[in-house]
Amino acid sequence: LTQAPSRTAARRLARLGTETAFEVSDAAAAWARTGQRVFPMHLGDVRWPTDPLIVDATARAIANGHTGYCPPPGIEELRTAIATDVGRKRGVPYSAANVSVQPGGKPVIGKFLSSVLNDGDEVLCPRPGYPIYESQVNYLGGIVRPYRYAPADGGFVLDLDSLRAAITPHTRVLILNDCHNPTGACCSPASLDEIASLAIKHDLWVLSDEAYGEMRFDGSFDSIVSRTGMAQRTTILYTFSKRFAMTGWRLGAAIGPPEIIRSINSLNINAESCTTHFVQRAMAECLGRELSEPTRLLRELDRRRHSLVAALNEIPDIHVQLPPATFYLFVDFSRVLSRLKCRTTDEFMRIALRETGVSFCTASHFAQTHNDDGAFVRFAYGVLQEDELAAAVDSLRRLTG
Ligand code: PLP
Repeated sequence: LTQAPSRTAARRLARLGTETAFEVSDAAAAWARTGQRVFPMHLGDVRWPTDPLIVDATARAIANGHTGYCPPPGIEELRTAIATDVGRKRGVPYSAANVSVQPGGKPVIGKFLSSVLNDGDEVLCPRPGYPIYESQVNYLGGIVRPYRYAPADGGFVLDLDSLRAAITPHTRVLILNDCHNPTGACCSPASLDEIASLAIKHDLWVLSDEAYGEMRFDGSFDSIVSRTGMAQRTTILYTFSKRFAMTGWRLGAAIGPPEIIRSINSLNINAESCTTHFVQRAMAECLGRELSEPTRLLRELDRRRHSLVAALNEIPDIHVQLPPATFYLFVDFSRVLSRLKCRTTDEFMRIALRETGVSFCTASHFAQTHNDDGAFVRFAYGVLQEDELAAAVDSLRRLTG
């Protein structure tokens, strides 16, 4: 079934990519079914309770009968609550007209690109990067122009030179994912200034994927949309999935210029009609409130981040720094691979699952088939507790040490 495109009638499907992390999930689940212990560190999920205030508000919304269709752009109360919250933190006077509610953040990628791309338009995409960007650009007839995140001082930086070099007269869109998956890197304010001036100079639309924008451990909140002239050309991918531990609830939003939002609203009508009504009611009630779980979650992730980095650095030839955001570590295993005589990180991934039960993604899951900078794997630490993370790294150390 994974080979379906070659056997289906619609040729455009051959251009559609996927999120191969879900295949890693299948392999891990199959291994667990054989009775083996598995340490799932592959998926960007969070095992954490959704705040009880949100759960209660949802139960009340269902009991009060908010179970029918609602307007395709989202209910006015939630759009206003999102506009107020997002606008206040970024210094932009958004209103409900700037917000289109979505079933998660992911749909924003395809809907935004459908709104701005014509055949042959070029799109600047981060590599490594969230694989759905390139999948959707190719599917919609655009051309991917990758730019790099480069290793620097044990962490990563967005390589501005590679971004500048990727721009041509056909470039129409920049996709930016500050607080970056998979590296956890954040741009400095000066880099964001520079990226904003490039976007203005070359008249680009910008998709600012802020899925992890508020999952920062170091530095203060920042967004490209706060720069002069950027709100008019930027659409924010906003999601409740990660920070609120609501990945399975499916709630997010596109926030941007009214003409883009109107186009996205038409796409909502053509696709899901509306996002789950009672979930919207609950979040409209809770977004402006003081919630305890998101704060507790961030504190817990920070603890895990420190202990995981410390444990990994005890593996010979592994050197990791604390990334400033997200709940991912992107780690170079090239020397370990040579020691184990593994040719690729994907081969290492399969061996590690079989020998240790530790399951993770590699750079190849982030649109990076070959990396001259090293052999990178990504550990996601949103699912395992601290003691489980310690046991996972312990097994890896025994395999690779
Ligand atoms: N953007 C990035 C960078 C992500 O890592 C993810 C999920 O992993 C998403 C967007 C979409 O998340 P969701 O659809 O759950 O909001």
